[in-house]
Amino acid sequence: MAKPRLIIADLHLSQERRDITTAFLHFLANTAPKAQALYILGDLFEVWIGDDNPDPLLDEVATALQQLHAQGVALFFCHGNRDFLLGKRFANRAGMQLMSPTTVHSCDGIDVLFMHGDSLCTLDAQYIKFRQWWDQPWWQRLILSMPLWYRRHLGRKARRVSKQDKAQKTAMIMDVTPDEVPRVMAQHNVQLMIHGHTHRPALHQITLADGRPAIRAVVGDWYQQASYIELCDQQLTLVALGQQQQLDLSSALAS
Ligand code: MN
Repeated sequence: MAKPRLIIADLHLSQERRDITTAFLHFLANTAPKAQALYILGDLFEVWIGDDNPDPLLDEVATALQQLHAQGVALFFCHGNRDFLLGKRFANRAGMQLMSPTTVHSCDGIDVLFMHGDSLCTLDAQYIKFRQWWDQPWWQRLILSMPLWYRRHLGRKARRVSKQDKAQKTAMIMDVTPDEVPRVMAQHNVQLMIHGHTHRPALHQITLADGRPAIRAVVGDWYQQASYIELCDQQLTLVALGQQQQLDLSSALAS
């Protein structure tokens, strides 16, 4: 039997939520070893202030991922808006390969576009502006050159601002822009896109501009869902809040 690919995102690991780390370590030890690959689509951590952060949580997570990698599971990591500063040093420690913000992998003959999902939320002008800043390598280098205590302070501030922001923005602004999805899928010539970020797990069946059917699969968060997607033999299964939803890709994507 073919080995599945597993996809997760938005764990938001932090010292404050020990329960999520416990659930994640359990997932890595019990569910993930059967996979050929594990894709982590961003926001694995609640905040990232640099690979040199001595927080023992980082060590714990890196060790568990490295163990999984040693069992032959390929690990891919795509940055989220919380952990965009995660670098090669930590990725190596964890046995993960860093992916570009939009990556297409052929999975059982189907091209799949993997991304975090924040870049699809184009109605949030304020956030898009901020993202343009942190996408700049020089800006990232500048931040990372600051002392750790100061970066810790910036991290706390960013979390505070993000909480206030979320309370003010409407649900529509915080979701993906409907027109942006088929545009990006056409740009990458795919009929299947998998992302996180919105914390709204669902399998959306849409139609591209050229009439081809397509699927936008959204994996849920781990605040309350321990959500993941399994891709195997052209079957896509979304697990969220203990419920399963399955789609047969060969029939769903046939034009
Ligand atoms: Mn996010």
